[in-house]
Amino acid sequence: MWICERPGRWFSWAEFCTSSRVSTAVLASALERRPDHQAALVALCAGVLDPLRDALGPVVITSGYRTEALNAAIGGSKTSEHMTGRAVDLKLATGHDVDRIADAAQRLPYRQCITYAPERGGHVHISYSAAAGPPKRQSLHAPASGGYKARAT
Ligand SMILES: [Zn+2]
Repeated sequence: MWICERPGRWFSWAEFCTSSRVSTAVLASALERRPDHQAALVALCAGVLDPLRDALGPVVITSGYRTEALNAAIGGSKTSEHMTGRAVDLKLATGHDVDRIADAAQRLPYRQCITYAPERGGHVHISYSAAAGPPKRQSLHAPASGGYKARAT
């Protein structure tokens, strides 16, 4: 069951259950069984995603909730916060501008924000967790050459 009709003012559950690898129905069915993961997505919306959408206009969730199988299939980190509803990847609907998203996020209580070079997807990974303590605000950049480096904020 769903803990509420929609996770955020600007976001629907389906937007977090979209993948090119797995049907929305499969992901939604997995998420529907995990009220704790739904609650994490509600908190992510309230803390980070709704305020970002207010500031930036339309955004597209490029990777939201992942089952362990989906996460493994796309080579996600074994501890990926996508599997618990604590992280999503997004882009601006108007195109590639990861810095605009990351800059707008700086006043928000995110845990980790990673800007990816176009060669690595050109999206922003952002996470939030009230349970993990005060916002860590770790800001990283994933360059085309691989790895991660600190991003100046
Ligand atoms: Zn991600």
